[in-house]
Amino acid sequence: MLTSADPRPAPAPPTRTPPALLGRESAAAYRGLIAEVAGRLAERFAAADRPWTGAAPADLAPAVAAVDLDRPLASFEDAFAEVGELYLDDAVWFHHPAYLAHLNCPVALPAVAAETVLAAVNTSVDTWDQSAGGTLIEQRLIEWTAARIGLGPDADGVFTSGGTQSNLHALLLARDEAVERVLRGHRPEDGPRPRGVEVLPRLRLFASPHSHFSVVKAARLLGLGEDAVVTVPADDWFRMHPAALDAALETCRERGLVPAAVVATAGTTDFGSVDPLGPIAEVAAAHGAWLHVDAAYGCGLLVSLEHRGLLDGIEQADSVTVDYHKSFFQPVSSSALLVRDRASLRHVTHHADYLNPAEGAVPNQVDKSLQTTRRFDALKLWMTLRTLGPDAVGAMFDRVCALADQTWDWLATDPRFEVAAPPSQLSTVLFRLAGAGGEEDADEVHRRAREALAASGAGMVAATRVEGRIALKLTLLNPGTGLSDIVPVLEALARHGKRAMEADRRTAAEAAA
Ligand SMILES: *Cc1c(COP(=O)(O)O)cnc(C)c1O
Repeated sequence: MLTSADPRPAPAPPTRTPPALLGRESAAAYRGLIAEVAGRLAERFAAADRPWTGAAPADLAPAVAAVDLDRPLASFEDAFAEVGELYLDDAVWFHHPAYLAHLNCPVALPAVAAETVLAAVNTSVDTWDQSAGGTLIEQRLIEWTAARIGLGPDADGVFTSGGTQSNLHALLLARDEAVERVLRGHRPEDGPRPRGVEVLPRLRLFASPHSHFSVVKAARLLGLGEDAVVTVPADDWFRMHPAALDAALETCRERGLVPAAVVATAGTTDFGSVDPLGPIAEVAAAHGAWLHVDAAYGCGLLVSLEHRGLLDGIEQADSVTVDYHKSFFQPVSSSALLVRDRASLRHVTHHADYLNPAEGAVPNQVDKSLQTTRRFDALKLWMTLRTLGPDAVGAMFDRVCALADQTWDWLATDPRFEVAAPPSQLSTVLFRLAGAGGEEDADEVHRRAREALAASGAGMVAATRVEGRIALKLTLLNPGTGLSDIVPVLEALARHGKRAMEADRRTAAEAAA
């Protein structure tokens, strides 16, 4: 019974959608606005003559800080002009052929158009009554991806915000399956039945040293702790050793610990190496461990016309991470988690009275997701497949893989460089500037060469470490880039590196004099 006074303010007269919001009255304004923005952006895409200005935080921070967010500008045009100065002038353009740094791709045109649709309609793919056909479209794409993987008739899954979330989600399912298995196998003579949380400290995850850091992060978030991740040695090609995995799982068993999941990587972030999935699946199955395949980078192989064989064995996975926003040329965000057995998704299901009560169930994706309100990212992949088709996407990925081989060959024969890893199975290239000196000197020379390159606008490359030593890294994901775009960037790097080495020698000579 209500006892206190009604807390609501007096009702205002009913209004239609105000013109500031997208609705019936603003449809014409919407059309004009989008056309205007598309026109302005088209100019920028056509004019971008370098991937980046190399702006430092100090170059941009004062202007961003000076904006008074409580005092709006006079018009959208003014606001767009301001964003031009604060952001677009110094944006990093992944479509530029000299952008060679991280796992970012130029985006498929049909997907960009779809992004406009999903933003405007603002569908949330959680319940049927918020998405209708959107739910079915996402489910078809999950089925399509699962079929490409070969997961079988009980497969299911859900789109996520990215590989990090997909991995977390997969390992959550693996954790809860492992706990249930332990509790089911508990016998009276083992002592008092443990509670689920008491099992957690016994769980272990197995991954190669080159697996993505989100695996360790997931272990932490899932209450297992970073130490729960057992590092399984890799071979000289940066692929997990199945025999070493077998030994690690055996040790785990001997210590009375529980192998919750083996994480194989199909396309390591640094090396593009693909763990041998078939042999790993066999070992995981022999030890009763969940097999998760992190194909965030390598998922493009699912549509590859030349290299699909690298994924042989992936069909035996219990769960798979795919990042369409990497090797399917989709705008961020677009990722999915696939599972072999849809029943395993029950570990993230919660029935809320207001949203998805258990009774009268209709198709929905919220029961399978870590998120509630969720973007209709699936529409982008749908439009891409329906416009370009899977073969075109696969051919684009094949092209960047071939380009990485060409680039490796070029570097391997030029005395100014040394390759820092064997040719990649996918599309990364690791190398060093020759003659950069001992460890500290080499770090400094490579850092300065890389920064000078970015500041010059001639290109962008990434840096990482290979067995502790600094290395420069190209991640090739632009099928429009050719060797003739890459060579000038490498030449410029060599020049900047030489300058840094000479400056070092001068300093050393002065110090000695
Ligand atoms: C990029 C990447 C991730 C993380 O994916 P996000 O979409 O950036 O969250 C996970 N695993 C691998 C192998 C990756 O390359």
